[in-house]
Amino acid sequence: MPTIDHRGPEFRKLALDVFAKLKPVFGAEHVIVYPSSGTGAWEAAIVNCLEPGDRVLMFETGHFATLWQTMAKRLGIEVDFVPGDWRRGVDPALVEQKLREDTDHAIKAVMVVHNETSTGVTSRIPLVRKAIDAAGHPALLLVDTISSLASVPYEHDEWGVDVTVSGSQKGLMLPPGLGFNAISNKALKIAEQGGMRRSYWDWHEMLAANAKGFTHYTPATNLLYGLREALDMLQEEGMDNVFKRHARHGEATRRAVRAWGLEILCEVPEEYSPVLTAAIMPEGHDADELRAIILDRFDMSLGAGLTKLAGKVFRIGHLGSFNDLSLMGTLAGVEMGLGIAGIPHNKGGVDAAMRYLEETAG
Ligand SMILES: *Cc1c(COP(=O)(O)O)cnc(C)c1O
Repeated sequence: MPTIDHRGPEFRKLALDVFAKLKPVFGAEHVIVYPSSGTGAWEAAIVNCLEPGDRVLMFETGHFATLWQTMAKRLGIEVDFVPGDWRRGVDPALVEQKLREDTDHAIKAVMVVHNETSTGVTSRIPLVRKAIDAAGHPALLLVDTISSLASVPYEHDEWGVDVTVSGSQKGLMLPPGLGFNAISNKALKIAEQGGMRRSYWDWHEMLAANAKGFTHYTPATNLLYGLREALDMLQEEGMDNVFKRHARHGEATRRAVRAWGLEILCEVPEEYSPVLTAAIMPEGHDADELRAIILDRFDMSLGAGLTKLAGKVFRIGHLGSFNDLSLMGTLAGVEMGLGIAGIPHNKGGVDAAMRYLEETAG
């Protein structure tokens, strides 16, 4: 598509259409679209409603929670970072306990990653919300949905989330380049009076421009065409069907991993990610060597183990536009790769996944 005048009537039509179609995907009234990476949208969430010296509660669920924590610290936030082993999600009981202990309400926000892309663990946001309410604590709830939005059930307003952060390049099936903030009225009010010094990320000027169908500065115009198409595709399939498709592919993948005799990194079945599975390599075998062989032979790129997990796990992802046959191709590539690389494993993972897909074909 040509890059149209972003101050003209044609853009206005596109923008208003996109803004309207975004709301049900987030389950939110206010959604801002930035020309940015997901990391930019992380920063936008922090600078609009937190100030240097503010305390926040975060959980070490994996690589992305760790990075978001580093960013918060750089921006002057004091982070109470609960250590974790990267095999489970946020513990709601611990959220409640930490907030109950904070009797003078020094903690201004609980910041969690919904789907840890580095581990294949999905934290249960409604339980985190419940824990905050049970403690009777006023902290904001900030959630990273960069790899869960439009793939895993999510409801910003209904779940009482204050800021939802997302990006274009995962469940929304687009090239990188768009960052999102969905914002509650409570967070908006806090941002009106507080937050940090900011300009590019400021919510208010953007929302004021958005209400008229425009943006406060040059948008990523061409990506918005793509976003409109992606939102139409999701609507056409039906969000519930999209969620079911991902959950079903997740289960098929786990059946394959178990049949191979490999261990699934996520230890809590209720927290299995519907969009990816991380499998642990047998002792003494390097996941990156396996990944390199599979890339070379089959032109298929598996997710790497990040930082703490480097070389120890590989990740099978099926985010976004994916169907039964693409999943079977993926799993066949992994099973053949395991054989070629000489990794001790059992055959039959592809079969187990295929049987499950047949049984649940509907
Ligand atoms: C990919 C990802 C990010 C980082 O997004 P960028 O667009 O690379 O900045 C952050 N959090 C999660 C959970 C992700 O999956």
